[in-house]
Amino acid sequence: MAFEGLADRLQNTLQKIRGKGKVTEADVKEMMREVRLALLEADVNFRVVKDFIKRVTERSVGQEVLKSLTPGQQVVKVVHDELTTLLGGEQSKIAVNNRPPTVIMMVGLQGAGKTTTTGKLANHLRKKHNRKPLLVAADIYRPAAIKQLETVGGQLSLPVFSLGDQVSPVEIAKQAIAKAKEEHHDYVIIDTAGRLHIDEELMDELQKVKEISNPSEIFLVVDAMTGQDAVNVAESFNGQLGLTGVVLTKLDGDTRGGAALSIKAVTDLPIKFVGMGEKMDALEPFHPDRMSSRILG
Ligand code: GDP
Repeated sequence: MAFEGLADRLQNTLQKIRGKGKVTEADVKEMMREVRLALLEADVNFRVVKDFIKRVTERSVGQEVLKSLTPGQQVVKVVHDELTTLLGGEQSKIAVNNRPPTVIMMVGLQGAGKTTTTGKLANHLRKKHNRKPLLVAADIYRPAAIKQLETVGGQLSLPVFSLGDQVSPVEIAKQAIAKAKEEHHDYVIIDTAGRLHIDEELMDELQKVKEISNPSEIFLVVDAMTGQDAVNVAESFNGQLGLTGVVLTKLDGDTRGGAALSIKAVTDLPIKFVGMGEKMDALEPFHPDRMSSRILG
């Protein structure tokens, strides 16, 4: 289970302070030493850990805690609040274009779960928001990517726009959007190409697809299991393309949690959704406060 080690350690640490009727600065220091180690062991970015510890310490030895009737519980609340802030604060909704269709571009490295997530997102939009999405197969380089998206579309009974692998992704995007307008699709979700590594050619092409399709959202799909690598990938895609959000996949696995806890602070990008399995309904809108409660118990 994701976050298991981190959750155990943080819960143990907070348990020690929770019931205290009097909390001293030394108590807070001791607690923060343990919190710091727990976060570092969960592969959270060290700068993020440093800032987090600083904020929690400041608030915990401040008036709001020491003057309260239940200082132990107040400290726990401070940690919860700050963890929620770290995870993004408010839930982040999907943007909508005033003039349909709303275009969502899905980008990411190969294997991150982009094609699967494209299907899951379409399914989510239809089921939860009553939308009529068109899926677009614009990953013309990975053998079988087009077929995979068609299979996903077939499973969900959702249309997939494809022009095979001999037409450029820019042209595919252009024609897909024209077709979506004609057939009154309110969302167009473009599954773009990924590579094993970020390269200039890939970025150039994604940039062109972005220009032609004027997306309301560009979601980076990243594998939560890759930890800080996921954060580096997000920084790099964001710098070159300008992302609007992140989908963290494979949170059903035993990720230590570093990516989830670092991405917002490092890139300022909200986590919009999390992937919780391989099935088409295993996608959940990301709620920072719920995640924080899950971790802290
Ligand atoms: P792409 O190369 O980025 O398009 O990646 P795919 O969509 O083909 O996904 C790669 C693998 O990851 C597939 O086996 C998916 O079933 C799997 N996958 C995607 N998302 C999740 C997730 O949230 N949880 C789990 N456990 N597996 C996932």
